[in-house]
Amino acid sequence: METLQKVKQDGLQMAKDYVDEVYEKVIKQNPNENEFLQCVKEIFDSLVPVFTKHPHYMDNSILERIVEPERMVTFRVSWVDDHGKVQVNRGFRIQYNSAIGPYKGGLRFHPSVNTSIIKFLGFEQIFKNSLTGLPIGGGKGGSDFDPKGKSDGEIMRFTQSFMTELYRHIGPDIDVPAGDIGVGAREIGFLFGQYKRIRGNYEAGVLTGKNPRYGGSLARKEATGYGTVYFVEEMLKDKGLSFEGSTVVVSGSGNVAIYAMEKAAQLGAKVVACSDSNGFVYDQNGINLETIKRLKEIERKRISEYVKIHPTAEYYEGCTGIWSIPCDIALPCATQNEIDETAANLLVSNGVKAIGEGANMPCTLEAIDVFLKNDVLFAPAKAANAGGVAVSALEMSQNSMRLSWSFEEVDAKLHQIMENIYRNCVQAAEEYGYPGNLVVGANIAGFIKVADAMIAQGVI
Ligand code: GLU
Repeated sequence: METLQKVKQDGLQMAKDYVDEVYEKVIKQNPNENEFLQCVKEIFDSLVPVFTKHPHYMDNSILERIVEPERMVTFRVSWVDDHGKVQVNRGFRIQYNSAIGPYKGGLRFHPSVNTSIIKFLGFEQIFKNSLTGLPIGGGKGGSDFDPKGKSDGEIMRFTQSFMTELYRHIGPDIDVPAGDIGVGAREIGFLFGQYKRIRGNYEAGVLTGKNPRYGGSLARKEATGYGTVYFVEEMLKDKGLSFEGSTVVVSGSGNVAIYAMEKAAQLGAKVVACSDSNGFVYDQNGINLETIKRLKEIERKRISEYVKIHPTAEYYEGCTGIWSIPCDIALPCATQNEIDETAANLLVSNGVKAIGEGANMPCTLEAIDVFLKNDVLFAPAKAANAGGVAVSALEMSQNSMRLSWSFEEVDAKLHQIMENIYRNCVQAAEEYGYPGNLVVGANIAGFIKVADAMIAQGVI
């Protein structure tokens, strides 16, 4: 009995040493890439119980391999602004892992984009895509281009120049980009047009998030936000809770936030706040979604305009204050690291019951600790926001079959996928000794499928 205990302890120690050793190497090789290191740390720490139970992953050097991108390109994007001046931005595409399918992941256009951000998003995408259960590998890309305040013409010239380099790296069976922050249907349209022009070939499946008029999937626009709410709904249901009658705070007012608000409201919640990169609005009567959609999707205006139309609502400059609003459910749908330890403590002291990460890595490691220690239900991004990329994969299927499914059909599939992801995360967490910890569950469930595929394909 004692010996068995000892063997187990030795196994655990070996797994911990292995993870620490590889992590130290990652720190050395990627100095100052804080977002990347943060995301690697979270995933690596979760995998200790897997290596303890299945040491063959260590023998196959699986961590060293999975953390190293298959390739990453950076490129110059020159374009001419409305004043006739030549502007230069940096473009990126990371092709992180193709063990289970072609690289798949969005493009982010935002001034904060750099190597660290692209690598964190790409690494995260491997596990997220695996969780969907669909055959898609992990990739990501983008540029430090700032779309804010740019004219349609500038956006078009920039995206065409971006695609003039990107086209040689992508293809429907190679790498399939989509949108992310700053890249929506308009940008995907310009990118697709330029790709088609260069290739002289109508390859619908080369990009997803297209307008349904030319090969986009119905419900793709709604998918990430709806999916996050479907996931959280499952998590609440297990505890006898629901969205019905709850107060919800959603950060952001982009694609993810808008449709998370819509679905939460459809399920009977009152969404009282949302934000953009300048500030947030608090509307105790419940946010009027039609106004938000008009301001953000059509007029491309700042959220501060909301209070001009709804004078009883309040607008506050700055983004972090949104987490001081008392709520039952918080859905961070804006960007990485928007909830830190202080914000997490504030949410907890105001009685929050559940967090659903709609954005990628919106909570810092310290914030996640606060939630887990206080028994707040926590839906981690790579599981909770996988609905977007899942419907992207369904868009690829429809493109391959040259047909399109109805909104209801896609939405029903999305719902089923989110339920499956939730169940798989719960099960993995339980199986590896962390019942109820969906952070660990998501990382393990996402990892095993990719790791097994990599091993099955030899030393690649
Ligand atoms: N950018 C989204 C994500 O973070 C969607 C990617 C896609 O549809 O390929 O998952």
